[in-house]
Amino acid sequence: MVKVTLIDRKSNALTPSSLRCLSHLPTINMTAGCVHGCAYCYIRGYSQYPGDDAVVVYRNTAEQVARELKRKRKRPIAVYFCPSSDAFMPVQEVLDQSYRTMRLLLENDIGVQFVTKGAIPDRFFDLFSHRPERVAGQIGLTSLNEKLNTAIEPNAASADRRLKDLGRLIDIGVAASLRADPLIHGVTDNDTGIDSLFAQASRQGVRDVSVSYLFLRPAITGSLKRSIQDPELLRRILEPFDQVGRSPIRGKGTGSATHLPTDVRQANLGRIRTIAERHNLKLKICGCKNTDLTVGKCHLTNLTSTARAVQHRSDQSDLW
Ligand code: SF4
Repeated sequence: MVKVTLIDRKSNALTPSSLRCLSHLPTINMTAGCVHGCAYCYIRGYSQYPGDDAVVVYRNTAEQVARELKRKRKRPIAVYFCPSSDAFMPVQEVLDQSYRTMRLLLENDIGVQFVTKGAIPDRFFDLFSHRPERVAGQIGLTSLNEKLNTAIEPNAASADRRLKDLGRLIDIGVAASLRADPLIHGVTDNDTGIDSLFAQASRQGVRDVSVSYLFLRPAITGSLKRSIQDPELLRRILEPFDQVGRSPIRGKGTGSATHLPTDVRQANLGRIRTIAERHNLKLKICGCKNTDLTVGKCHLTNLTSTARAVQHRSDQSDLW
C-alpha cells in the first residue's frame, strides 16, 4: 500500500539541472520519491526521500508552473519530466498532476520531454496526438526478462507494456526512443537478452537507443543491498565493481561515482553497438557517465526520429 501525501511546493517547480545532458532545459519533478522502487535508484539517498512505498505529491503544480512562466523573460522551448521521479508512476494523484501540467505546457506551445519506466495512460496519448511535434519521450527498459525486472524494478510497467507504449508514441508522431539504462554487467547485458530487446524495440519502430552502465555511489550500493532479496543476484551485480576507481560525472556538483573499468565498458558497448546496428538502431552513449570514453551525448532530451522533430531540434540553440 502506497502512502500518498499531498503538499504545496515551497520552491520553484521549474528548475535547472546540473547534468550536462539536461543543462539546456528546465526540469520538473512531480513528486519527492517514486513508487517504481528501482533497486539502483539514486534518489533513495536524497534527504527528502519519503521512504519506500511512500510518495509526496506536489499539488497545484500546473498553477505554479503557469505563474513561473508568466515571470520568465524568455519561455523555455520544452520542459523535462522528471530527473528524480517519474511522471507516469501508478499513483492517480501523480498522473493527474502530470496530465494537467503537460497539457498547460502544450497549450502554451511549450514542448514536453520525458523519460519513464511507467505505463502511459490513454489520455496522455490523446493529449500528445494533438501536438506530437512538441513531445519527445524515452522509455527506460534494459531487459525482457520479467522475473529479473521484478527483482530490480519491482513496480515499473511490464516490458511488454513499455514496448507497446513506445510503439504507440511513434505511431502518433512523437519522437520516442529506448533508454537501456542502467545496464548491469553480467546480468542484463548478455548478447541474447540485448538482441531480443533491440529486436522488439525495432519492431515497434524505434530507431534510437541510449545506453549506459550501472555506476555506484554509496546510496546506490546501499539501496541495492536493501532491495535485492536474492543474494546470488546481488553478488552478480556488485562483483564487477571490485578493484575499480572513481571518476567524475559531468555537471556542477554531481560528484563522482564508481564505474566499471574503462576497457570492460568499451568492449561491451562496442559489442552492444554491433547488435544495435543489426536491428537498424543508432546507439547513443552518454558522455556525462562515460567521461573516459566519449564526449558524446545520450540525447536525453533530444528530439529524434520524426521529420517534424527536425525543425524543433534545430531550435534547441535558443532555449531558456
Ligand atoms: S523510475 Fe526512475 S525515479 Fe523512479 S525509482 Fe526507478 S529510477 Fe528511481
